[in-house]
Amino acid sequence: MDGAGLPETRSTCPYCGVGCGVLLRADGNGGLDVRGDPDHPANFGRLCSKGSALGQTVGLEQRLLAPRIDGAEADWDAALDLVANTFKATIAEHGPDSVAFYVSGQLLTEDYYVANKLMKGFIGSANIDTNSRLCMASSVAGHKRAFGTDTVPGTYDDIDEADLVVLVGSNLAWCHPVLFQRLLAARQSRGTKIVVIDPRRTASCADADLHLPLAPGSDVALFNGLLAQIADRGAVDADYASHLNGLDDAIATARADDATITGLDPADLCAFYDLWIGTQRVVTIYSQGVNQSTSGTDKVNAILNCHLATGRIGTTGCGPFSVTGQPNAMGGREVGGLANMLACHLDLENADHRAAVRTFWGATAMPSRQGLKAVDMFRAVADGRIKALWIIHTNPAVSMPDADAVRDAIANCPFTVVSDITAQTDTARLADVLLPATAWAEKDGTVTNSDRTITRQRSVLPAPGRARPDWDILAEVGRRMGFARAFDYANPAEIFREHATLSGIAAGFGRDFDISALSGISDTDYAQFQPARWPVTQERQGGRFFADGAFFHPDGKARLIAVTAKALASVATADAPFVLNTGRLRDQWHTMTRTALSPRLSGHLPEPFVDIHPDDAQTLQIATADLVRLTNVHGQAILRARISKDVQKGQLFAPIHWTGETARCARIDALVAPATDPISGQPESKAGTVAAARF
Ligand code: SF4
Repeated sequence: MDGAGLPETRSTCPYCGVGCGVLLRADGNGGLDVRGDPDHPANFGRLCSKGSALGQTVGLEQRLLAPRIDGAEADWDAALDLVANTFKATIAEHGPDSVAFYVSGQLLTEDYYVANKLMKGFIGSANIDTNSRLCMASSVAGHKRAFGTDTVPGTYDDIDEADLVVLVGSNLAWCHPVLFQRLLAARQSRGTKIVVIDPRRTASCADADLHLPLAPGSDVALFNGLLAQIADRGAVDADYASHLNGLDDAIATARADDATITGLDPADLCAFYDLWIGTQRVVTIYSQGVNQSTSGTDKVNAILNCHLATGRIGTTGCGPFSVTGQPNAMGGREVGGLANMLACHLDLENADHRAAVRTFWGATAMPSRQGLKAVDMFRAVADGRIKALWIIHTNPAVSMPDADAVRDAIANCPFTVVSDITAQTDTARLADVLLPATAWAEKDGTVTNSDRTITRQRSVLPAPGRARPDWDILAEVGRRMGFARAFDYANPAEIFREHATLSGIAAGFGRDFDISALSGISDTDYAQFQPARWPVTQERQGGRFFADGAFFHPDGKARLIAVTAKALASVATADAPFVLNTGRLRDQWHTMTRTALSPRLSGHLPEPFVDIHPDDAQTLQIATADLVRLTNVHGQAILRARISKDVQKGQLFAPIHWTGETARCARIDALVAPATDPISGQPESKAGTVAAARF
């Protein structure tokens, strides 16, 4: 109860992967009071600007309140029958790989679980991928190569207890603000040093001891240099090395790499290596600047190599830490919501894993090979291989690389279904069938944040109009496709129990994700569930992984991966001489479907812009506030100029958020090349090339 005596409900902020707990109180007029949950282990009562403005974003002005078929309002039966029958007919005529789901880290775990089960267990294709592919797929691939599973070794508590925190390709101050608040508190209380590694001078640099503005894409060379120094200075942990494979190869390859390609001042480079090697408690936090790269997986492994070689992993104040963009990116990974994964961290291409899941689900069909990852999925839509597409809570016509081509592909797809809370997105406008889903404050289920903490999201507002939960819509389509028993769910608690039970089976195969102690959770206990970091078994709850040197590869050891720095996919030319970096702003979220509803958030940086170095601005005769046109072979954008030394000469920065709805000419992903990491499939959204001219 709050001071006014009205009941408060514990839930989770729906934005970033920090996964802050919130206390919500409906005001009785459709509005919502929001405050940080003082007992939640992610935020202990803190909130950032976005989380604290959640109450301003729950209005119904732009909500989709009823199903629509070809733009006309329809009843649920007609819409669901049309979706189920069209998918069935398409599969019957063209096979299961002719259909696809493109889903989102905005889904709750229970929604995600049902979508994955329907596609992989009953449709019989692995063509389900998620916008998380654009966010952290390289981390998943790097973790699996090094550890044998997609395991986050540490917890947020390590940020509080580190003596050095290195931010690599992460503007933590804006993109994971509550973790940055925790870091600043640690700096205040224990003098934690901060190093920022980023081509751009970001808000996170204001409190840094050292900023290394490395050349875009040169992270592997930087961390190879660190690994070589670790070896040369005798800083390898000889005891921990008995738990590792590939150490000598990785060191030899690192020594052969050339850290000078980072373009950094040798004195700064040396200062960084001294600090890292000389500090036992080091946390290396990395995010999109590492992951969104054609060598993203190698970058991740270059970082993991350094922590493994020094044994600085899984103990207090130590470890590599991938911070994810979305609230439930981790839950999506746990249910196998990526095209190359099976549920509960089992492997799609392992026959024993497949057989176990098939038996558990009573599945009628199960693919034995990976499905199409996001960029390839939309290529397949464009060339006609995908003939029926269901897009759930995401806006790929804006957010995918080569966004104009993706928009055209969706427009030309024979059958497109979109589930969303609004019809006012560039993607929703292209749908044949629009399905109204419940929004954040109306939904029940769970999410998992970046440090493996599972938290309940609880409904505090009634579903408006005829909106329905995503798990319910997906299960209803599954039943209408003929899979009545497998999708006979009454509520999200039933789905969660099934997921938890399957995790116990996965643990029998030596998988890390194990919440089997929750497999018998009652509806009442699910309703009252308090945040819990996995694993949740009879033997243990939460904690860190790998201090004991026990990894998930068959031999129980970790693998250091020998990696070499590679060139960027897009090479600057006379026609496109600038390197374009893209990223988030402090007060906006994704394609602004929620945050743009808050006047306070929209007031921070109200219009799309591009940052240009003063020397380049002078050459191009561009002044502050001029309109600038960016162009390349993929598309164009027109943005307001900001002249700033925060970007290096020859580089530009532009935010990702604006859409065809909010600023027709500022869809920045229209300029991003669809070049991807060969292992993770994650696109290189941080370093395209463009021409710039005054408009
Ligand atoms: Fe929400 Fe992330 Fe801000 Fe926490 S840090 S309040 S999860 S946006």
